[in-house]
Amino acid sequence: MANITNNDDSNGFICPECEHTVSCKDVSRSMAPPTGKTLDPWQSVLQTSKCDKCKYTIPCHLAYRWSNINFKDARIEWIKLYKKRSLQQP
Ligand SMILES: [Zn+2]
Repeated sequence: MANITNNDDSNGFICPECEHTVSCKDVSRSMAPPTGKTLDPWQSVLQTSKCDKCKYTIPCHLAYRWSNINFKDARIEWIKLYKKRSLQQP
């Protein structure tokens, strides 16, 4: 049994913006063909979820913390990489 210490981690949806735990829409994205030079982090996001409260589009790997990251790290990544362009995403 692995000793996992993620206490606030239920592996359900948690919005990194407002901590709401209900998403209104899960969307699978088709990966755009790489264009070579883009640095847009959204381009490698395959699945997104839309927060039911703040309506931001959240990458699923952050909302569900897929790579064993904790909520705090997910929020930092969210703000640093994704938030700015979130509202332009489907
Ligand atoms: Zn939210």
